[in-house]
Amino acid sequence: MATKIDHLALEWATAQDLTRFTQQLIQTPSLSGQEGAIAAMIVDHMRALGFPDVRTNEMGSVVATLGSKSGPTVLYDTHMDTVVPASLEKWPYAPYDAHIDNDVLYGLGAIDTKSSLASMIYGAAQLLPFQDQLNGKLVLAFTVQAEPCEGLAIRVLIEEDGIYPDFVLLGEPTNLQISRGQRGRVMFKVLVEGQASHGGQPDLGQNAIYAAARLIFAVQLMAGDLPRDPFLGPGTIAITGIESQGASLNAIPDQCRVYIDRRLTLGETVMGAEAQLESMISRESIPATVKITIYDDPSYTGLIRPAREAHPAWVLDRAHPLVAALNRTIQTVQGSAPEIGHWPFSTDGVYTMGQANIPTVGFGPGDPNLVHTEQEHVRMADLKTAAHVYAGLAASLLMND
Ligand SMILES: [Zn+2]
Repeated sequence: MATKIDHLALEWATAQDLTRFTQQLIQTPSLSGQEGAIAAMIVDHMRALGFPDVRTNEMGSVVATLGSKSGPTVLYDTHMDTVVPASLEKWPYAPYDAHIDNDVLYGLGAIDTKSSLASMIYGAAQLLPFQDQLNGKLVLAFTVQAEPCEGLAIRVLIEEDGIYPDFVLLGEPTNLQISRGQRGRVMFKVLVEGQASHGGQPDLGQNAIYAAARLIFAVQLMAGDLPRDPFLGPGTIAITGIESQGASLNAIPDQCRVYIDRRLTLGETVMGAEAQLESMISRESIPATVKITIYDDPSYTGLIRPAREAHPAWVLDRAHPLVAALNRTIQTVQGSAPEIGHWPFSTDGVYTMGQANIPTVGFGPGDPNLVHTEQEHVRMADLKTAAHVYAGLAASLLMND
């Protein structure tokens, strides 16, 4: 084990290339649905590094494979897209500058997830000279549209591209610790209906906003009553958007749409959460119907794969061999044992582990609490550590001692 990782130590010059490539990734805008330029850049770069099989799939995700046909398949998955940078005036450096200050790299996607993407490439590149010694395959997948719809592009890759992984490692940030689960997520759209009338004659109508107010109050009451899992914490419910519709501001609105973000803890199901909301609505006699929202934006290649925004919670057993292998690798690289916890946000694990039941763990550089903030940054030393761990884990799963 130790000797394998010694083989795979990153040279100083390579570590510099890793930093420079991470900067290039940050400097290449890649909002969800607009990942074409970054995908082309990644493909070119990986081919130049000597990866034998790099392509984009129909949806536009980048897929690179090395190793042999027989034996297990290990999938490293992280995403190319970023959210829109908010509050531009608050960023310490412009989001696409990839500015380095004091060995810290700043920028949009610095941890979510361009640093793990670059580290996976430079980690996997350490295996290139040993390709014929791999007992199995390492697949790197850099997906599109993971921000608006986690699990979608990886589902397409697994179900439509015929990649059947035995183990999955996700590169969402964990601060170089281990993540082995997350709560699930459902987005409900509740349509509250009323009856329009003139604003001067409200008694002739039924105000959809007043009915929605009763819904909002009932949701607030529900929030205190949701189950708690000792590892993942409580399920939560929160209203995150309201829209009303009426003929004008002089009219009683006949429709109000209320958006509800529901996080599911272990033991809760999408169906159960939907039924719970529906029974509250009927108990309170609120004239409303519940729907789960559908994500159907086209990818940059034009592919549309509608997906319900309903994702289960998942946890991989602490004693699973994949957790143990990652734990050993991190200890070898870092010299100390990592914490083993869970993510506070949602990831592609909702599909790989939550639906497809493929053992899934997470490891990535960067503080998960900085995700989607203007403070996003990564320590350059952590890029190198992550690359070592990615190389070492693949070696431990795919190479004999
Ligand atoms: Zn994100």
